[in-house]
Amino acid sequence: MSSKKKLYALIGHPVNKSLSPAIHNRMFNKYDLRAEYITIDVKNLNDFFESDHIENLDGFNITMPHKEDIIKYLDEITESANEIGCVNTVKIKDGSLMGFNTDGLGARKTLERFIDLDDKRILILGAGGAGKAITYELSKYTEVCVLNRTQKEAKALERFGTAGKKLNFTNLKEEIKRSDILINATSVGMDENVSPVPKEVLGSELIVFDIIYSPMKTKLIREAEEKGCFIMDGLWMLVHQGYKSFQIWTGKEPSIDIIRKTALEKVSS
Ligand code: NAP
Repeated sequence: MSSKKKLYALIGHPVNKSLSPAIHNRMFNKYDLRAEYITIDVKNLNDFFESDHIENLDGFNITMPHKEDIIKYLDEITESANEIGCVNTVKIKDGSLMGFNTDGLGARKTLERFIDLDDKRILILGAGGAGKAITYELSKYTEVCVLNRTQKEAKALERFGTAGKKLNFTNLKEEIKRSDILINATSVGMDENVSPVPKEVLGSELIVFDIIYSPMKTKLIREAEEKGCFIMDGLWMLVHQGYKSFQIWTGKEPSIDIIRKTALEKVSS
């Protein structure tokens, strides 16, 4: 007798442009698993938890704006998700909901794919959900400074042993000079005509990683490329995170290259 088809989802608002269904459904197919990944547009978490969806799901990813509020609905969360205060992956087993955060790991795995983090000083722009997770993860390995528009949020990340300051032109210019790697973890750049970093402060030695993946070539990435910087796009982080969710749910370790290829095909379709 065949087992029940498993169901996974991305919940959040909006979710209609997500690449995750293409990635996970391709992997389920590749491993011959009876499973499907769907998107569920969720404006209100209470409504979601009272709906039939929750009965049918085996796991789900969470995107904006629910990564923090989801925690109170879960039975258990990992130590790292607790430290960060955000969950983006949930595994459901025997009715119990376990929360994970894979954002930081996704960013670190992206960096390590291309560079050695030893002795590198990292400047992170943004202390929102993604910024917190990346700061938590990278500060375990190397020196990190965070700049954020709202200074209080940057200062709060000093609990991870980092420096936290206000994001303004003076601090940006000074901190870029002292850093080897710049990571944009703000949402500035989702509009392709805007960058959080004026081109004039980018030097050719700087390694630039923009975690925004839509558009893939943000203004920051385009200008960094023009300046001769080594660049990494946000699709790499999405790919590494997708890998981790898939592993948490299925125990399988899919090929990063196939996930990246699937995501690229979806982006250009
Ligand atoms: P979030 O929690 O809403 O945080 C947004 C961040 O952007 C905050 O630090 C906010 O600063 C800053 N910000 C917003 N508008 C700004 C402005 N005009 N000037 C300066 N700073 C501004 O969002 P998130 O979940 O961290 O996501 C941030 C971005 O990362 C999004 O574009 C998201 O799509 C992307 N992301 C990518 C991946 C991936 O896998 N590649 C994963 C997660 C997120 P304040 O604190 O001052 O508001």
